[in-house]
Amino acid sequence: MSIKILIDEDTIRKRIKELAKEITDYYKQYTNTIHAVGVLKGSVHFFSELILNIDLNVKYSFVHVSSYQGSSSTGRIRVKSWIDESIEDEYVLVIEDIVDTGLTLRYILKYLRKYRPKDLKVVTFLEKTVCDHGVDLDFVGFKIGNVFVVGYGLDYNEKYRNLPYVGYIE
Ligand code: 5GP
Repeated sequence: MSIKILIDEDTIRKRIKELAKEITDYYKQYTNTIHAVGVLKGSVHFFSELILNIDLNVKYSFVHVSSYQGSSSTGRIRVKSWIDESIEDEYVLVIEDIVDTGLTLRYILKYLRKYRPKDLKVVTFLEKTVCDHGVDLDFVGFKIGNVFVVGYGLDYNEKYRNLPYVGYIE
């Protein structure tokens, strides 16, 4: 299988810097500390690079959920691990890799809301524009069409996560 580049490294880096500034500017009006909740495993690189560019104090938590097998959604969410610190009364930013049907994110947001954060926002690295996923995304890195992408954290059966760019399988 050959991988074609969809978004190259420089474009990713530049966009993440802009996004980090947008996020910093938004929160600075309200707080100097936020609680980031990374969605594993796909968001690892995005999480890390984004947060390194955010000019606020950032607490870290992670959830590990999956709904995909191969290149299609199973339609069921499996929670493999969950946050282990309180987010009550905090400014919470969920950091997701990609939103397609919105099933995963809807599930995560529904349960995080129950802990009564002061504010709950979402940033996603990629948003697929094929489905009307119906989830409010506060910050979006890139919008993409109907392609199955890999790289920069995203996998195909656990392969290709460490490609430094976003590609698609031809
Ligand atoms: P949703 O629940 O929004 O349909 O899908 C979100 C999850 O499905 C993502 O967190 C990711 O794990 C997986 N996913 C959706 N589209 C893609 C894709 O194009 N490539 C990869 N590697 N994973 C995807």
